[in-house]
Amino acid sequence: MKCRHCGMQLIHTFLDLGFAPPSNAYLTEADLNKLEKYYPLKVKVCDQCWLVQTEDYADADELFSSDYAYFSSTSTGWLEHAKRYAEQITKQLDLNVDSFVIEVASNDGYLLKNFVEAGIPCLGIEPTASTAETAEKFGIPVLREFFGEALGERLTEEGKQADLIVGNNVYAHVPDINDFTKGLKAALNLGGTITLEFPHLMRLIEDAQFDTIYHEHFSYLSLFTVSQIFATAGLRIWHVEELPTHGGSLRIFGCHTDDARQTTDAVRRILQDEAQRGMQTLVPYVEFQLRADKIKNDLLKFLIEKKKDGKSVAAYGAAAKGNTLLNYAGVKPDLLPFVCDAAAAKQDKYMPGSHIPIVNPVAIVKAKPDYVLILPWNIAEEVKAQLSPSLSNSRFVTAVPEIAVL
Ligand SMILES: [Zn+2]
Repeated sequence: MKCRHCGMQLIHTFLDLGFAPPSNAYLTEADLNKLEKYYPLKVKVCDQCWLVQTEDYADADELFSSDYAYFSSTSTGWLEHAKRYAEQITKQLDLNVDSFVIEVASNDGYLLKNFVEAGIPCLGIEPTASTAETAEKFGIPVLREFFGEALGERLTEEGKQADLIVGNNVYAHVPDINDFTKGLKAALNLGGTITLEFPHLMRLIEDAQFDTIYHEHFSYLSLFTVSQIFATAGLRIWHVEELPTHGGSLRIFGCHTDDARQTTDAVRRILQDEAQRGMQTLVPYVEFQLRADKIKNDLLKFLIEKKKDGKSVAAYGAAAKGNTLLNYAGVKPDLLPFVCDAAAAKQDKYMPGSHIPIVNPVAIVKAKPDYVLILPWNIAEEVKAQLSPSLSNSRFVTAVPEIAVL
């Protein structure tokens, strides 16, 4: 396989998680009697541009046939994050009734509704019908398409170049990152700004967040690599912010290469940080597997020991992360009888691969397990604060970057 950005042959493995079902393919009871599809889950690193990327495999299109749609607005924390961003960027770029904002992967309108309220014209791009419909109820125009160079050029022909293009948690999920970036270039007005948020590969490596790896997540990005991808498309990163979201993300600010804005010190500082951690050498990439294996083994040891001691364990949060971790560790309901989740769409279904039942959080309060394993470690404190008043005798545990009792 060749690198999706620079075309070099990929020879180095970053992580091999064997085979796994798609992370969002939650199963109904009837599905349990059917064949379940597993796909290879291998991640490579390019030794030229350092793009970390999932390996290609056959039938990739089938992966996205899952009818589960994530609605961004279900997370109140994320809604607040979006609102703060909208206020900040409107002030910073002096956006007004004459500006035009495009959001790629606009989901259910969780972000653009803030621009609609401020009277700033906007357009959402979202191929998932159910979420797009919800966004339209807020008065947001939505194009139900995938974004790339062809669409970027069409928007320009229609006079719809944007002063701001936003992409939150979409950049790492696009299969053709070069085409997507060319689309950003094409749709960007003169003097316009692009902001993209994505999990920072430096944090993933630092905190051994191997459970954030799944099929739909094609690229794992450093600032260095994104700078290269932008430069190839005629774009430049002039500013960057570090965010606590998803275990540590970057929010990059891009513009046309010849834009007058000076590149800030923040960009230089993070590029330097990455270089100091050896991210343009093979070292941190080739040792990653051992760290993932240790986490897997320690989790299994913990679950087996608790079972031997007659202690009960249940999990919280049926997120993609949990699926990667549990499937790699081979955990089944004998060691972890159920997982609870607040999203009604997942309740009464089963985790893909592990077939652990997903129940309403009421069940965990009733069961009062000795240990609650919080799978989405990025919101562990929030979950603990929420559950501990009704589970005063339970102890809360996370497995990444190491088994820890909170
Ligand atoms: Zn490359």
